[in-house]
Amino acid sequence: MLEFRKDPVIGRWVIISSERGLRPNDFSLSSDPQAEKTCPFCPGREHLTTQEIYAIRPDHTPPNTPGWRLRVIPNKFPALQIEGHLRQRADGIYDKMNGVGAHEVIIETPDHGKTLSDLNEQEIREIFLAYRSRILDLHNDKRLRYVMVFKNHGQAAGASLSHPHSQLIATPIVPKRVSEELIGSEAYFRYKDRCVFCDIINQEMDDMVRIIESNDHFIAIAPYAPRCPFETWILPRNHLPFFEETPDSAMSDLAVIMMSLMQRIDIVLKRPPYNILIHNSPFDYKFPEAYHWHIEIMPRSTWVAGFEWGTGFYINPTPPEEAAEFLRNTQLAR
Ligand SMILES: [Zn+2]
Ligand SMILES: [Zn+2]
Ligand SMILES: [Zn+2]
Repeated sequence: MLEFRKDPVIGRWVIISSERGLRPNDFSLSSDPQAEKTCPFCPGREHLTTQEIYAIRPDHTPPNTPGWRLRVIPNKFPALQIEGHLRQRADGIYDKMNGVGAHEVIIETPDHGKTLSDLNEQEIREIFLAYRSRILDLHNDKRLRYVMVFKNHGQAAGASLSHPHSQLIATPIVPKRVSEELIGSEAYFRYKDRCVFCDIINQEMDDMVRIIESNDHFIAIAPYAPRCPFETWILPRNHLPFFEETPDSAMSDLAVIMMSLMQRIDIVLKRPPYNILIHNSPFDYKFPEAYHWHIEIMPRSTWVAGFEWGTGFYINPTPPEEAAEFLRNTQLAR
């Protein structure tokens, strides 16, 4: 079963995807160094994955053979499937539609044992170029409205395979969390005639207490009201609603700030599990002056528990001013 179902009380869609229960989980063996010997994402096991749809192959080797530096493949156990029609329909008082969408895996490096903070600037830049290329391609599918790019690192953050990878899920509906940001940003823009994220950047540049680092094109901050200790955002310094419109000239700065931020997080929090996500404008977004794409990084040092589930309040023991200071003052080995 693969379908979207709508909660009739608050209008939130969920994805019911029974296939997902079948996917492999090498963390059951994670203390076992043998996991690498069967990892489907390692070079030489391309035959175990779906056919690649994008790759960076410096040696111009044939598709689905070793020689790549990065590969993108359809998820073998997708949360959504690319074939079919949406067919939104009633189910008594309820609403549902077919689980149409795209679910892709970005295998970030051939090196099983590396993490983001071990990759160099060029390797990280190529990951962002892959995201951009895939988002632009998915624009062509008129059923789709949103692409969520995300990374789960570590079992506690929801990863099921340890080989470095990120994912994207393209959906026919704008997700609720994203809509909340869009609605809030639009309300702010109507009131002040300015983008709220541009205003945040300006204020953080003045205050200088929650900035971790910045370069010509990007800034990394601890947000004013973080949900968890060491939550961190990266934003383009100039107003930019669409990630996929990030120019080549800014991609190196993005790779540099991502690389050093992940190194800082790994040093301060001793290589924690984390989630990374890109919040972007929907494909056909009609209010691009109000929204500003950004990356959110959530190290998983505390668990979201009953109170947070029940209320939407997050209890965070670490003030962002302290988190930013720790991260900012970390000496990087360069
Ligand atoms: Zn591997
Ligand atoms: Zn802006
Ligand atoms: Zn966001």
